[in-house]
Amino acid sequence: MGKKVIVIGSGFSSLSAACYLAKDGYDVSIYEKNSAVGGRASKFTKQGFTFDMGPSWYWMPDIFDKFFGDFGRKTSEFYTLDKLSPAYKIFFSDDIITIGDSMDKICAEFERIEAGSSKELRKFIASAQENYDIAINKVVLRPGLSPLELVTKETILKVDQFFKTISSQVRKKFKNPKLISTLEFPVLFLGAKPSNTPSFYNFMNFADFGLGTWHPRGGMYEIILGMETLAKDLGVTIHTNQTVDKILVRDGNAAGIIANGLEINSDVVLSGADYHHSETLLDQQHRQYTEAYWDKKTFAPSSLLFYIGFDKKLKNVEHHNLFFDTDFEKHAEEIYDDPKWPTNPLFYANFPSVTDKSMAPENCETGFFLVPIATDLEDTSVLREEYLDLILKRFEERTNQQIRKNIIFKESFCVNDFIDRYNSYKGNAYGLANTLTQTAFLRPNLKSKKVKNLFFTGQLTVPGPGVPPALISGKLVSELIANSN
Ligand SMILES: Cc1cc2nc3c(=O)[nH]c(=O)nc-3n(C[C@H](O)[C@H](O)[C@H](O)COP(=O)(O)OP(=O)(O)OC[C@H]3O[C@@H](n4cnc5c(N)ncnc54)[C@H](O)[C@@H]3O)c2cc1C
Repeated sequence: MGKKVIVIGSGFSSLSAACYLAKDGYDVSIYEKNSAVGGRASKFTKQGFTFDMGPSWYWMPDIFDKFFGDFGRKTSEFYTLDKLSPAYKIFFSDDIITIGDSMDKICAEFERIEAGSSKELRKFIASAQENYDIAINKVVLRPGLSPLELVTKETILKVDQFFKTISSQVRKKFKNPKLISTLEFPVLFLGAKPSNTPSFYNFMNFADFGLGTWHPRGGMYEIILGMETLAKDLGVTIHTNQTVDKILVRDGNAAGIIANGLEINSDVVLSGADYHHSETLLDQQHRQYTEAYWDKKTFAPSSLLFYIGFDKKLKNVEHHNLFFDTDFEKHAEEIYDDPKWPTNPLFYANFPSVTDKSMAPENCETGFFLVPIATDLEDTSVLREEYLDLILKRFEERTNQQIRKNIIFKESFCVNDFIDRYNSYKGNAYGLANTLTQTAFLRPNLKSKKVKNLFFTGQLTVPGPGVPPALISGKLVSELIANSN
């Protein structure tokens, strides 16, 4: 057997790293505090309804294919993907924009809103595609050890795009506020305001319009199950219901963990739990970052989530629905600049059973509602109920139907649950945002600078928030481990 690696957590990044390390010959064991693997991508089922508790947008299918391909396997061996048509629908106060499954359909919709806009859109998406190729095939595959990693012959030509924002770029090309919001939506996945996100990140627009929105039959948890199967095939041992209380350090080397009160030794420790939490598992002198460091960082939002079972099929909705019928700027301010419960928030509603019958009982609908909110807010059941009422009222008005009487059950999830269930810093949902000053080598390191053989992975380190970056993070850290051992 090779050297022993303990992996803390079983989110996408941990599972990815575990697979690569096992393939490289390491003896890998995962320790996960919850009763099932998956981390923020957990699922729960109730009365025949299936809910993905976290991610629901399957974007960048090429990254998933590359992941399984690295093990000589195919994505289709693990789950079946359907391309959603339409991809999604956006409700504004006076109109609905439908994003189709091809550039031709999307261009026609842009023309309906703003004559002549489709020509600009094609140019914009072509530049976004160039950035996607550079980002995904070059920049993102580097471990964030040095600023020089960002310097390639392609990025030098685009250096201005790191200093301009996506918001100013989009506003230069499009005048209609609905089209502007539509084009600013994809970078919200990176966790910061579009006015604080470099325009180079418009590669997310290519991921959206160019590569499309997909759905794994049975839900996003099917990806986790696929990765769990792969990990086990490769020899990874998975322990659930194991809370890691301490990372052990001997003579400056990571030496193992204490989990559920028992000491377990290893040659390498890799934590995929939230970075801040992982460092609290170390004695003070072994931590790299202070509380003040974390406090100054721009975190991606937290979320107020509702998982609802409806006893009827809903009308006028698609699989993914965005409710952008209120003031986007005001809501963003209330998340980032002046953190408070939002006055009149935008929200997202997901009904996977619209396209996938397996997700709900017959003639019923599985509903997932998400309201982005600031981190660290006071979280009470009264506030949750107030917001549920507010969004369902707006939902009923915009979609022209009554649904509140058709709720069979509802569960909510918010700041306190993110902290309790995932040890999330301030209850963040998606990790550390990708802003200019929190990109690549400016993010918390994959490799500890203080403790030998201690590594980190996941959405608070390189490359950033989201499922595809988590897969890449696992690959990058496994390469660093292999190079150091
Ligand atoms: C509501 C929501 C919606 C999202 N939507 C999308 C989307 O549509 N598309 C997309 O691409 N991304 C989306 N994301 C982001 C995506 O889910 C995350 O970026 C990704 O799943 C993070 O994976 P991770 O491995 O970094 O962390 P996590 O999934 O958080 O994994 C960390 C693991 O560590 C475990 N852990 C913590 N402390 C300990 C301890 N002391 N001992 C043992 N185990 C511990 C946790 O239980 C957890 O399992 C969404 C996230 C949320 C929350």
